[in-house]
Amino acid sequence: MELRKVLILGEDESVIQGIAGLLPDKYELLTYIYGTGTIPSASYALVVAILPRQKLRQRLSELAMALEHQPVVLVIPTQPSLSLINAMLSLRPLYVLKYPYRESAARRALAEALHKSHALAKRYTSQQQLAETNRQLSQRLQELNALYTIAQEVTSTLDLDEVLKRIVEASIGLTDTEEGFILLREGNKLYLRASKNMDSSVVQRLHTVVVDDIAWQVLRSGRPVMLQRESRIATGYLAQALLYIPLHTSGDGTIGVLGVFNRTKPGSFTENHLYTLTSMAGFASAAVDNARLFEAVKWERSRLNAILRHASEAILVVDEENRLHLWSQTAAQLFDIPAEAMGKPVSEYIRYAALVDLFSQAAEHEQRLHAEVELEDGQVFNAQLTPINRVGRVVIMQDITHLKELDRLKSEFVSTVSHDLRTPLTTVQGYIALLDRVGSLNDMQREFIGKSLHSLNHITELISDLLDIGRIEAGYNLEMRPCRMDEIIRKAASVYADTVEQRELHLEVDLPDTPLWVHGTPRRLQQVVENLLSNAIKYNRSHGRIVIHAEADDRHVIVKVQDTGIGIPVSEQPKVFERFYRVRNNDTQDIEGTGLGLAIVKSVIEKHKGRVWVESTPGEGSTFAFVLPLYTPSEAN
Ligand code: ADP
Repeated sequence: MELRKVLILGEDESVIQGIAGLLPDKYELLTYIYGTGTIPSASYALVVAILPRQKLRQRLSELAMALEHQPVVLVIPTQPSLSLINAMLSLRPLYVLKYPYRESAARRALAEALHKSHALAKRYTSQQQLAETNRQLSQRLQELNALYTIAQEVTSTLDLDEVLKRIVEASIGLTDTEEGFILLREGNKLYLRASKNMDSSVVQRLHTVVVDDIAWQVLRSGRPVMLQRESRIATGYLAQALLYIPLHTSGDGTIGVLGVFNRTKPGSFTENHLYTLTSMAGFASAAVDNARLFEAVKWERSRLNAILRHASEAILVVDEENRLHLWSQTAAQLFDIPAEAMGKPVSEYIRYAALVDLFSQAAEHEQRLHAEVELEDGQVFNAQLTPINRVGRVVIMQDITHLKELDRLKSEFVSTVSHDLRTPLTTVQGYIALLDRVGSLNDMQREFIGKSLHSLNHITELISDLLDIGRIEAGYNLEMRPCRMDEIIRKAASVYADTVEQRELHLEVDLPDTPLWVHGTPRRLQQVVENLLSNAIKYNRSHGRIVIHAEADDRHVIVKVQDTGIGIPVSEQPKVFERFYRVRNNDTQDIEGTGLGLAIVKSVIEKHKGRVWVESTPGEGSTFAFVLPLYTPSEAN
């Protein structure tokens, strides 16, 4: 803004007018005669002070007071005394004009003074602008510093109370307010979580419920509130001015309020305050989020630890490279796993072959596996390995020692009873068969005898199956030697050749030209093929087909018995290998059996370190298959 006013002060109106006549027209002239009221104050383009002859000192000191920082031209008598010169200089005149003056010289002097004054004013304005910019800059710097420090604190500490307190302190500092707090919402309640400078009576209620309508307004709307009038906040607290900013999180929406306020002085909040405090609120939300996530993880971890500590099962969790990551206390005790085992290969700590095998098999197949593990002290565990995507594998081992013992006792009992039953049964069978030799029988008697013999056969079959299972499981007469699976299959097929023909079925035996060596007990392996073949006959349809196929890969011999029979419902398939389990439906109700054939198959195959399974489509047929480890002739020699 350009200055337009010129003030001329003097004693004598005519002298004043003389000066006025020398000034350019564009200036608005104000005059003042000494001793008439106060000197009019304004920002002048120039003040021309014609010094009086009387009361000179008094006038000079009046002028010094009134004209501080104004551009002054002094008009002085021709011969000033030294003391006058000193006094004059205190006014810091731009120019000193001697009176009487030469008009042209005076005009030039005034023009020059005006020019100087404008230049000075301009310089003064830019200095002021510079100072203001500087002030704003240093304030921004201070804000940025505070934001930076808080950001660092939020990411480096998990002490939520400490971080929130620091955020409140910084917010107060940045907005130049008296007090502040952070309120967090839980359900439909608001809790005071951090505060600064508030009354101790309120602060004592930290972490307790507060009532604050304005905070609720911010929470509901999700928008800041700025008030510059008296308002009631936080359970009766009175504020003259306040600024409340909502705390947002991505997951839970608006979770609280950051507030700063004045209780005594009025507040003047700016856009800048709003902007900075919004950043602060962002940090507070991030800190709350972090703390909650950390708490959740900590809680999960302690829960997991508690489970692992108290679980009676031995639990081992390994990653995809079979490195140990978690284990239960039971596992630590059983296998002597120290805390340093974390991240080390499981094979360094687990020496039991069955378990080591389980882990290495899992690395190849990525499927659920299970094995029985017997420890040095005789304890037996059932180990179940489950692959878990992106984690690795979990092995859960249950102590089944007592179940194994029960099973052994039961088998012993069954085999004793079966054995004791067999002799009297054979006697009964013999006598009944001889009945028709001792006299003629009528038709009805002959029919009854037939039925009795049929039932007796069934019981004898059952008993011999039971005895077989007992013997197989106990490992009696299971002398293993190299033998040819292809020959065994041929023998079994020939046993059933007649039955196949009687039932009008078609049997195909599909074997490779090369021998299929396995290490086993030929009698039991033949029993396996016979049982599978007998089922394929029993559960077939008339004119159905049966294919026995065998082949070897570089490590295994695989045998499949395929039929075109009634098939097995999917839900029943896993159970058919259990003892006495029989599928009961319309298709099977007239077919006799003991429910032990497949149990024998499973026992024998497992004793030979093999695996047996079934694939079946109801109504289309079933394929029973087993694999045994291949025994190469070179090993056999
Ligand atoms: P079973 O003496 O009853 O034949 P198994 O143990 O040999 O006893 O078989 C168990 C059950 O599995 C049978 O009762 C039958 O329901 C079913 N099963 C076995 N083999 C076949 C097959 N080839 N086709 C259809 N069902 C079969």
